[in-house]
Amino acid sequence: MTKYALVTGGSRGLGRAVCLRLASEGIPVVINYQTNASAAEEVKTQIEAAGGMAELLPFNVGDEAQVEAALSTWQDTHPDDYIAYLVNNAGIRRDNLMFMMPTEDWHAVVQTSLDGFYYVTKRCLTKMMMRRHGGRIVNMTSLSGIKGMPGQANYSAAKAALIGATKALAQECAARSVTVNAVAPGFIETDMTKDLPVDELKKLVPMNRFGRPEEVAELVAFLVSDKAAYITGEVVSINGGLYT
Ligand code: NAP
Repeated sequence: MTKYALVTGGSRGLGRAVCLRLASEGIPVVINYQTNASAAEEVKTQIEAAGGMAELLPFNVGDEAQVEAALSTWQDTHPDDYIAYLVNNAGIRRDNLMFMMPTEDWHAVVQTSLDGFYYVTKRCLTKMMMRRHGGRIVNMTSLSGIKGMPGQANYSAAKAALIGATKALAQECAARSVTVNAVAPGFIETDMTKDLPVDELKKLVPMNRFGRPEEVAELVAFLVSDKAAYITGEVVSINGGLYT
């Protein structure tokens, strides 16, 4: 039996860094992405070049039928293995002031961050609980989900809901040695933040800089490790002191 990690949105940004970091621990990684096959392929190549194991598994986390089909096929081809480490990282931004926000942008953001978490986690949870070998779930939330950000009512709502789900699920799974935690980054240098006024925003950060994806990946690696076995239902902020 091999324990795999599944990282949603593993092709770019934080997810990419998490894939590389978990693979460096010797964990075989399933790299999920939605459309960017070349970026995902690059992550896989980089993992393999370093002696690790990686597989690609494209699907839209917000589409239950796609999640079900992809994960069923994966399980069929890995009958003795299971996803023991799940990082629900896929997410999008569609910022706008609420009174101008298209309904479609509300739903797209909630569907990716929150519905996506539900579809993927529900599918992986059964095996994680049944196997009695423990499991780790890490949900990528955000500072926006803790304090709320103007222009991000959709994103803040989805990320705050994810925190609630993290705390509830942690209590459901604790007796089976499955931990469920959330990581709440502030501003991190990725494609998601590249159109923001970085010089202005970094003045708001006590450390005067955006974080690096590798710094977030380090925290995720700790939370999935044996060392974090007694930590569950927590939201760990990583934001350079922006909000505590
Ligand atoms: P990013 O650079 O924009 O990358 C997003 C990743 O998610 C890509 O791999 C993308 O796949 C994937 N993705 C998007 N929609 C998907 C879907 N429906 N199904 C499957 N995969 C999907 O974003 P990031 O900055 O790394 O953010 C990663 C997570 O951290 C998000 O949940 C975000 O909300 C959260 N976060 C980020 C920051 C920050 O400052 N960057 C701060 C707080 C929280 P493709 O390559 O195929 O498009």
